[in-house]
Amino acid sequence: ESKRREIGDFCFYTSNISALTRERFELSQELREAVGGGQLLLHYQPKFHARTGRLAGAEALLRWQSPRRGLVMPGQFIDLLDEMGLGTWLGEWVLDRACAQMHEWDQQGYRAFPVSINFSPVQFERTPVPARVRTTLGKYRLSASRLEVEILESVAASELPRVREDIASLRDSGVRVALDDFGTGFSSLVHLTRVPADIIKLDRIFLSELCTDARQRALVEMIISMAKVLDLEVVAEGVETEQQRSVLPGMGCDLLQGYLLGRPVPPEEFAARWLSADAGAISGHV
Ligand code: C2E
Ligand code: MG
Ligand code: MG
Ligand code: MG
Repeated sequence: ESKRREIGDFCFYTSNISALTRERFELSQELREAVGGGQLLLHYQPKFHARTGRLAGAEALLRWQSPRRGLVMPGQFIDLLDEMGLGTWLGEWVLDRACAQMHEWDQQGYRAFPVSINFSPVQFERTPVPARVRTTLGKYRLSASRLEVEILESVAASELPRVREDIASLRDSGVRVALDDFGTGFSSLVHLTRVPADIIKLDRIFLSELCTDARQRALVEMIISMAKVLDLEVVAEGVETEQQRSVLPGMGCDLLQGYLLGRPVPPEEFAARWLSADAGAISGHV
């Protein structure tokens, strides 16, 4: 009786696995087509100066426009691309697309602003990153200050000398480096003093109870004041409520980013909404 149940459980388990494997196999087939067929794209989410509400920059975020699945978010396919060995290709593609987009906006006469790309070291394993970045900036006639690179704080704190050298070299050439999802790692505070960076992006988990929980608020204030001591710019990610937007500038936050202020959108929409006719301020912001 109990044996049969075990067997039953086992069958259930294996059929689950094969369903999962099949799904991943199909996904990987479709991803190959996506990569070859120009189905990947970047959306752009605005960042604003906390005090003035003026547009401060944009973050480029990867999307996959799949004919079968619709618009797919990066969390659902980036790891698989890496496993498929396409990570290096992806990293270079994102860098090139974001710079090409900035060049296009420049050609259209818009005020220059920085764009950040998300950077996974796995994706650049076989490329000398700083050299590749400099080449791409040159190709699109962009100054290094136009590009920002967002890396996870865990990556930034990597013991791998290669990663640290690359970060240092990028910064030497004028590209700013941001620590993404800051505060979620175990030893964030230690990283702050060891890692050469220009910006921290405060993870959105800190914002959830900012206005209701005094301890949460104290924690955020402490992180921000420490960032200030180290001369780092502070970006709040995931601003979703009016309350967060009104309280963060006073806490010393430099830039705000989040659905409340602007969602990630295709480049044409970004230009229409945030670049045209000096639309570059949060509407309603004084
Ligand atoms: P991330 O770099 O921390 O990007 C922020 C994520 O939060 C984005 O999700 C963005 O759409 C979302 N977000 C922005 N504002 C809000 C808000 O107010 N509320 C909430 N709940 N979410 C908000 P997305 O686009 O799905 O990207 C997820 C992650 O995928 C990114 O996190 C980044 O780690 C990674 N990623 C995205 N694009 C790329 C890329 O081109 N290359 C690499 N290596 N990773 C990427
Ligand atoms: Mg990011
Ligand atoms: Mg983040
Ligand atoms: Mg994230």
